[in-house]
Amino acid sequence: MEKIILIKYGELTTKKANRSLFINRIYENMKMSLEGYNVKIIKNRVRMFIETGNENIDEIVDIVKNIFGIHSIVIAYKVKTNIDTINSSVLDIASSIEFNTFKVETDRADKSFPINSMEFSRQIGGLILKNIPNKKVDVHNPDYLMKIEIRDDYTYIYSKEIKALGGYPVGVAGKGLLMLSGGIDSPVAGYMAMKRGIKLECIYFESPPHTSVAAKNKVKTLVSKLNAYQPNIKLHVINFTKIQESIYKNIDSTYMITIMRRMMYRIAEKVLRERDCYVLINGESVGQVASQTLTSMQVINNVTNIPVIRPVACLDKLEIIDIAKKIDTYETSILPYEDCCTIFLPKHPVINPELEKAIKYENSFDYLTLIEEAVSSKETITIKKDYNKFDI
Ligand code: ATP
Ligand code: MG
Repeated sequence: MEKIILIKYGELTTKKANRSLFINRIYENMKMSLEGYNVKIIKNRVRMFIETGNENIDEIVDIVKNIFGIHSIVIAYKVKTNIDTINSSVLDIASSIEFNTFKVETDRADKSFPINSMEFSRQIGGLILKNIPNKKVDVHNPDYLMKIEIRDDYTYIYSKEIKALGGYPVGVAGKGLLMLSGGIDSPVAGYMAMKRGIKLECIYFESPPHTSVAAKNKVKTLVSKLNAYQPNIKLHVINFTKIQESIYKNIDSTYMITIMRRMMYRIAEKVLRERDCYVLINGESVGQVASQTLTSMQVINNVTNIPVIRPVACLDKLEIIDIAKKIDTYETSILPYEDCCTIFLPKHPVINPELEKAIKYENSFDYLTLIEEAVSSKETITIKKDYNKFDI
């Protein structure tokens, strides 16, 4: 019997006008995620089907589970919509499964099918009771729930529904630029942004030789982990060394982090404009460190009018860690490689910086030229699905 993967859409069912846009996006994302697999994907307004020729089904389900915009996935038997065929298939399927009690639920999407859903469930229940010994119906808590979806030419018979991630398909919201460090928070922020349909590009600031190739590879590995949700992700690597050294040389140590972050935002905004992104995304979390107090955020954010999305702003560290573990970035994030934020870390960073002071300090060096230089010499790498072997 042919097994297929049946996809139920998520929240998009409520978005009437955008429906086909959403479905097309899921379809395109799925094609990209399943590149290399010999599958046929069929879409309609209520369902998507993946025909696999009964090959690699579990593997494919594991990939598809991570595509945002999908509510749930089932592995279903696909049979012709014909009462005799359905009857014999039901018996084959039920005989291959261990259970004592069962229930049948029918969904007759094809109203030209001559028997209504309730009646058909009753008939199928009777058929199982009559042909397979020692089975009982239990409508409240059955061991085995057999679902039958009758649609035009084909009928789908399945049991377990695998919950997917929901959210909006990546890309429907447009593009955002994720400030990705090697830490725990920013990959989680990226994941949460993708969940709302934002397609990511990433920006990473490095300061060689103060930061190592291993630190950069760690960031690449994190991007490759995010590939589970978006198969191709562009990573823009910015050489931040000169700016950081100038800050170190010229700026009162208490304001070094404030100014450094203002520089990061300025550069990120320029890259965002070049790359047609609409928002910046980062892993700032209120109160976590000196640069993430509300006053710091205000002084730092002051350099740009671009909306900054901070998905983990109001999460506790433990909540962030839970998500990091779930998306498999945690183990990479905790590897002990230096970040450009940590190498010149002052002993006493200002907790409540003043905007005027920040402006005065940063005007002590020609940062505009350095920013231009950093942006124009950026290195862009596209990190693709399965490209996850980086030496760290
Ligand atoms: P994370 O765990 O994500 O590193 P953090 O708690 O260490 O965050 P900070 O180092 O203050 O916090 O950085 C706050 C945010 O700024 C990060 O979540 C990230 O979005 C961005 N950021 C920090 N360092 C870098 C970097 N080297 N490259 C790109 N973005 C960075
Ligand atoms: Mg960090």
